[in-house]
Amino acid sequence: MIERISNPSHTKAIVEKYQFAFQKRLGQNFLIDQHVLEKIISGSEVSKEDIVIEIGPGIGSLTQYLCEAAGKVIAIEIDKQLIPILEDTLSSYDNLELINADILAVDLHEIVKPYAGKSIKVIANLPYYITTPIIMHIFEKNVPIDSITIMIQKEVADRIKSPPNSKIYGALSLAVQFHADTHLVTNVPPTCFMPRPKVGSSVIRLTKYKIPPVNVVDSIKMFKIIRASFNQRRKTLVNTMHHQLGMNKEVVAQSLESINIMPTIRGEALSLEQFAMLTNVLVDRGLI
Ligand code: SAM
Repeated sequence: MIERISNPSHTKAIVEKYQFAFQKRLGQNFLIDQHVLEKIISGSEVSKEDIVIEIGPGIGSLTQYLCEAAGKVIAIEIDKQLIPILEDTLSSYDNLELINADILAVDLHEIVKPYAGKSIKVIANLPYYITTPIIMHIFEKNVPIDSITIMIQKEVADRIKSPPNSKIYGALSLAVQFHADTHLVTNVPPTCFMPRPKVGSSVIRLTKYKIPPVNVVDSIKMFKIIRASFNQRRKTLVNTMHHQLGMNKEVVAQSLESINIMPTIRGEALSLEQFAMLTNVLVDRGLI
């Protein structure tokens, strides 16, 4: 039987062998629970047809499962002390390419270019501080991938799925809802990691829409309005559009009324569809 890197005693042995010093600032909490790893593999729907981009392989706990399930794995790790460890722990897999780089600094378009037309999946267990920038980068820069399966703080997963009017509804919820269908793969308690993080996590799969779920003439302009609305979420939309985007209050009020939305509404009460409708009216009137 293949020895699992994620087996707690094996993880410990690797850490000791290389005298690996965990770096908290890089969010180095390694998965040591086989059930969670199996759920990530089945939840990500990865197959031998797929090219997988793994962000943050660590010592290879998840990478090992990915190499067995995918056609090819490209693993991008920022910490150079982990590269010789990965070359050792994953030496028996010939479908792995390791890149020592900061994911926020690499050109993902370049990395995926040789695989045009193939199914590309991003899978990551990352430090929480970069999960939102990564998700937004992939969607906004239109990196041609099929899905992102990612471990995130449970609270962020709740925020992504949140409906209008809730306290946690925001620009992130709307951005993800615009670009992808969200599926909760599993919740992961701190005991599944070494060392243990302070908060609970969730794995979610974001499957990119081929056709956006709403009709909007200019999504960049729509997100400009969305960001402005949530910068001052306690103000009415008419006021935020005036203060943040320099628009005439009367004109914004009329535009809202024309799509049957009360002019006293706050931005946090608008659904994605209503933001799209408002954008279309404002663009049509040449106001944005
Ligand atoms: N995938 C492994 C696992 O599940 O056990 C390790 C996960 S650990 C939570 C996060 C990993 O991401 C660490 O190996 C860390 O060094 C790496 N990392 C942190 N910031 C990164 C960045 N900007 N680019 C690439 N890798 C990064």
